[in-house]
Amino acid sequence: MSRRRFLKNLGLASAGLAIKPITTAAQTTAKSLPLKDSPLVISTWIHGMEANAGAWSVLENGGAALDAVQKGVAVTESDITNRSVGLAGRPDRDGHVTLDACIMDHDSRCGSVAFLEDIQHPIDVARAIMDKTPHVMLVGEGAQKWALENGFSKVDFEVPIPEVQKDYENWLIKSEYKTGVNVENHDTIGMLALDASGRMAGACTTSGMAYKIRGRVGDSPIIGAGLFIDGDVGGATATGVGEAMIRTAGASAVVESMRRGASPDEACYDIVQRILKKHPGVEGMQVGFLAMNMKGEYGGYSVYNGFNYALRSNDRNEMVDAKYMRTWG
Ligand code: ASP
Repeated sequence: MSRRRFLKNLGLASAGLAIKPITTAAQTTAKSLPLKDSPLVISTWIHGMEANAGAWSVLENGGAALDAVQKGVAVTESDITNRSVGLAGRPDRDGHVTLDACIMDHDSRCGSVAFLEDIQHPIDVARAIMDKTPHVMLVGEGAQKWALENGFSKVDFEVPIPEVQKDYENWLIKSEYKTGVNVENHDTIGMLALDASGRMAGACTTSGMAYKIRGRVGDSPIIGAGLFIDGDVGGATATGVGEAMIRTAGASAVVESMRRGASPDEACYDIVQRILKKHPGVEGMQVGFLAMNMKGEYGGYSVYNGFNYALRSNDRNEMVDAKYMRTWG
């Protein structure tokens, strides 16, 4: 398939034509009365602004948080200028783009997919795994086979995006694999939303670390590492060097801190500090967390400056700088 065809497919898909979206409304019940400040959605990095707009189109009409986060992060997956989410992301060191994603709601329903190739919306696959199978996670060849059998189509491209190809060829010259030193690697989208009925959901999707070892899976599709929601407490999501989040069950740890009474900011601070303690002497490892509790309080914290998140509520639509512990340089 030519690049033009690939781009065309992406355009069609983003208009909802190429890949049949999963439209099943979330069959969930409200955990609490409508909150004064809901609906509310936050998501990592600047691409979160457009993703939040996608989520908001569901939330402002009284839709479910689960449907909102799925629709929201799919916007980023469709963005062919994005190099860290979706099929236009940077490849692994063998030249293949592999995608990871997960989704979870306040009833602990969750779905996840990892090491998925040639399918445009891994978040839709994660949601379908949640809705249609007794399992939480499918990976690689099996995940792709299942997706193709369940209404998804391949978006195969033999001629990659020139910029991505050029960068990859430049990287091949030295083939240096330095996990965590390049801040540009860490632009996963993680999203948390609270709907008007007080239901929370989260989603996380990424093409992972650029030039990773083929087969490597980071935190983003791992429930409890890159994303965790508990309807009694709230939710958390992460971006950055995924290995650090997996080692510490990062998103789950944030939720557990909030369960014990920490504010979202404090809970994110605690995990960032724990991650630093467990990686003594590691320089340049960026890790950022976002958290939201069921009251609609939210916060974020990162190791280094530069991590920010997009916020959308009834009266706000803006970027917020997360607090941080260290400055670059
Ligand atoms: N957390 C992702 C991973 O380790 C990377 C990112 O945040 O961009 O795969």
